[in-house]
Amino acid sequence: MVKVVKAAPVVEIYGPVVQGEGEMIGCQTIFVRFGYCDYRCSWCDSMFAVDPGQVALGAIRMDAPSIVTAVLQLPKAPWITLSGGNPAMHLLQPLVDSLHNNKYKVAIETQGSIWKPWVATCDCITVSPKPPSSGMARKDPDFETLTHFLSQAPVSTTNLKIVVFDDMDFLFAKQVHHLFPQYPMTVQVGNDVGHDGAEALLAKLLWLTEKCLQDPDMAAVKPLPQLHTLLYGNMRAK
Ligand code: SF4
Repeated sequence: MVKVVKAAPVVEIYGPVVQGEGEMIGCQTIFVRFGYCDYRCSWCDSMFAVDPGQVALGAIRMDAPSIVTAVLQLPKAPWITLSGGNPAMHLLQPLVDSLHNNKYKVAIETQGSIWKPWVATCDCITVSPKPPSSGMARKDPDFETLTHFLSQAPVSTTNLKIVVFDDMDFLFAKQVHHLFPQYPMTVQVGNDVGHDGAEALLAKLLWLTEKCLQDPDMAAVKPLPQLHTLLYGNMRAK
């Protein structure tokens, strides 16, 4: 019988860096970024990992052993973050198992649109439902897809993160928090890639922080910046 080796398109592997977003902000991690995404958010800052043409040109198909070998060549970090694109489009159980065998903790970042059983075996599941400003609002406001995803994600390891550019996005975050209060939630200032400098991002963070402070329904929600954009600007991390 021929053994089938599952390979997935890997756009980049880099680190260690600090996680710039969500509940794991500040944690040292290596990123493994996979190509392809089922969404097309208007403000996506990772189109090189979304657009099929760019992925076809830039990604390398790698199986779990090759990815782990590449990770092991980098300086040690406690976490490996599986990002994208949407990493949940791929079959990554062998990779998660192998990373665990090598004493790494595994985090995943996904919008929560596609469930795969291997996701439940990650140590941190960051789910980022996309708000109206993303242009993907038709998929999310019914919350059916998100409810399906969260019904299978362990509460103990799952957190929600929502990007907020404006009042409509903030209202969306409130809706999600109201429906799923059992999950820790962060709201993160929207980043106008290529335009927002540190001063603009800090002004947005002040606005978002005040919105949370003034809204009793959001008392348990943490407003956060994208730390890496403050540290390094709107550069692609490497
Ligand atoms: S879900 Fe994430 S990776 Fe996919 S298009 Fe939206 S922002 Fe980009």
